[in-house]
Amino acid sequence: MLKKADNIKNPEAITHEHDLLQSETTKRKQAENELIDYRQLLETTINHIPAAVCIIRGSDLRLQLINPAYQAIAPGKTMVGRTLNEIWPETGQDFSNFCKQVLETGEPYYREDELNLIKREADSVPEKAYFSWSLHRISLPHEAGWGLLNASWETTKRKLLEDELKIYNDILEERVQLRTKELQKQQEHLQKINQELLRSNRELEKFAYVASHDLQEPLRMVTSFTQLLYEKYKDQLDENAKEYIHFAVGGAKRMYELINALLSYSRISRKEVTFSKVDTKKILDSVKGNLNLILKEKNCTLETADLPEIYADRHQMIQLFQNLILNGIKFSKDHPHILISSKTEETHHLFSVQDHGIGIDPRYFDRIFEIFQRLTPGEYEGTGIGLAICKRIVENHNGKIWVESVPGQGSVFKFSIPFSNPINELK
Ligand code: ADP
Repeated sequence: MLKKADNIKNPEAITHEHDLLQSETTKRKQAENELIDYRQLLETTINHIPAAVCIIRGSDLRLQLINPAYQAIAPGKTMVGRTLNEIWPETGQDFSNFCKQVLETGEPYYREDELNLIKREADSVPEKAYFSWSLHRISLPHEAGWGLLNASWETTKRKLLEDELKIYNDILEERVQLRTKELQKQQEHLQKINQELLRSNRELEKFAYVASHDLQEPLRMVTSFTQLLYEKYKDQLDENAKEYIHFAVGGAKRMYELINALLSYSRISRKEVTFSKVDTKKILDSVKGNLNLILKEKNCTLETADLPEIYADRHQMIQLFQNLILNGIKFSKDHPHILISSKTEETHHLFSVQDHGIGIDPRYFDRIFEIFQRLTPGEYEGTGIGLAICKRIVENHNGKIWVESVPGQGSVFKFSIPFSNPINELK
């Protein structure tokens, strides 16, 4: 009795074992459920993927699983369990070769194909469609070895858009080329006009030079023979005749001055500009030397401030300062005081030549820079060419010249000289 009783487990142990068994079963059930959920999730995903997906068995290239999109390629056709050759007699062999290659190397494969599709709905007109597809090697469950995941998706819309874009691009390209050609033609035309202008400008310069140069000689003859006439017959001439001769000589002299002025103007040609680094202090020293006599005669003060080194033609700069200073002296009453200064702006030096003379009416600020334009012809001597020469010199240096003035108080002539002047561009 006692022995038998030994074999019987105590009720507490039995309950414990039973609990263990029950918890094991629950865990397994849970795992099974999770697996089912997981499988369902996978299936749903594959079924809703916007691509035709199939899984191919590596051992015999038979389809193991397909999604509805894959079935839709050939509705009604049996696919699962059949080989690629059986399903796609025309293309199956090529496709099988790609599959073997991926199975062997493990390298994924991508490509894009153009297919002629028969429209599904109605007529039998083939329609072009484009597909991208891929092959990936995957490991199949239950030790079934390698398999392949094949996905293909239609890219027709994208491809057609690309084609359309290409057409637009080609049209655009064509238009750009056409426009470029037009612009080239215009540019060539402009270049021709420019060359023509340069040529006629040179001709004009030459003409002005030759004309004024050749006029000097006959004019000199008129002056000297009129003077000779006067000297020889002055005793026989009455006062009126003497006056006429005096006017004739005066007129000829005036014309001589004008011709000389014109000659100097035509000599200031752009192509004769020789650029070098010049110190404007030294330029002003030369000017002072040249004007020494007149400065003393007129009791004139010439004050200079902050004069820089510049890149310019030395001779033309001397002439420029000299013309402006002489005008400042000429158009001042007593003890002229001329101030020459400079300041540095963003791209250029800005020079000022200031006097306290008669000043200029703002209405004539532009006119005075034109050739032979004078505001007070009877009162002051001159030819009306000095400022035209100044303008030409400044423009030869790619700068600008202008005047600021208050009548009765004085004038400031300002001009700019760029920091650098590429020689080639100027010629
Ligand atoms: P010119 O001095 O030989 O007359 P310019 O070309 O040098 O010729 O000057 C043209 C005109 O501009 C002058 O006749 C004069 O009327 C005016 N002008 C030039 N400089 C000054 C100045 N500093 N003050 C007043 N007027 C001036």
